This record gives sequence, C-alpha cells and structure tokens, in this order.
Amino acid sequence: MIDQQKIEQAVRLMLEGIGEDVTREGLRETPSRIARMCEELFGGMNEDAKEHLSRTFSVDTSEMVIERDITFYSMCEHHILPFYGKAHIAYIPDGKVVGLSKLARTVEVFARRLQVQEQLTGQIADALMEHMQPKGALVMIEAEHMCMTMRGIKKPGSRTITLAKRGVFEADSALEEQFFRMMQR
Ligand code: ZN
Repeated sequence: MIDQQKIEQAVRLMLEGIGEDVTREGLRETPSRIARMCEELFGGMNEDAKEHLSRTFSVDTSEMVIERDITFYSMCEHHILPFYGKAHIAYIPDGKVVGLSKLARTVEVFARRLQVQEQLTGQIADALMEHMQPKGALVMIEAEHMCMTMRGIKKPGSRTITLAKRGVFEADSALEEQFFRMMQR
C-alpha cells in the first residue's frame, strides 16, 4: 500500500533540496498532489495479472493471436522518469483465449510500477504463460525513455526495443518470423 504521508514529506524535502520555497503558492499543494498521483502511477503494485488472465474462454484453434500497439506509460526505476511506448503481445492458444482487453490490462498491471523495460517485457510474458497456459507467448516492447531524452546523452526519438519469448516461440523460429511478418501489415 502507498504511504501518502511519506511521499509528501519526501517531496517537501526534495523541493527544499533544490532550493525551492515550499511555502510559495504554486508549490503549496505539490507534495499532496504527487502523493495522490503515485496511487495511479504505481497502482500496479497492488494488482495481480491473474485477475485478468484467468478469465479465459474455450476455442478449438491454435492459430497465433496478436494484440499490437498497446500504449503504456511506466517509470524507470533508475531515475523515476517516465518511459512509454507500445507493447505487442502474441500467443499461441492451447484451447483457451482471453478477451483482448485483458492483454492491455495485464500490460497496465506491470507498467504501473517502478520498472526496467527488459523486466517489464519478461513479466508480461511470464504472466501469460502462468495464468493462461498458452503453447507459447511473445512480448515485444518499443519505448522512449525520458532519462535518455531529457537528460544524460539526450537522444530524442531513440527507442529501446525488447523481446521476450516463452514456450514454443523459444524453440520454433518460424513462429517468431510469422509474428514479424504479421507486424509489418
Ligand atoms: Zn532511467
């Protein structure tokens, strides 16, 4: 659970640390505003992807399902700055599928935490395998990191791409090729 009081204290200290006057009008509500915002930005910590992924329904096909361009926003754990972009999810059903909105909800569960992109990608793939038991899952994430674009090496527009493969996607490279072919459409 999020401790709003602690966050407010910390923000006040940070503002003082950068030399601000925390009593001036524009900043007076900032600590409590940030504390409330944290509930939303880090709310995924109190959620379980199982809630979304265990609501499956039966199908008799095992053709690849792709949900692409799922927009997400997350926060990098090294700088507490946003990284954001698109997640693409593919899986090969083994008798059951989930509603497409559940895949987007699963991305949210893991994105709304302090994250590292590689870990976010793997956690989504692992959750699919654990709670839906498909034959295989593949997750690809393309994201822009504010810690790369507004500070440090300042390379706006650069994107980081990560991929996680599980199950049959690990063994059968033709499936991965099919994924990339379908992504080009
Ligand atoms: Zn960072």
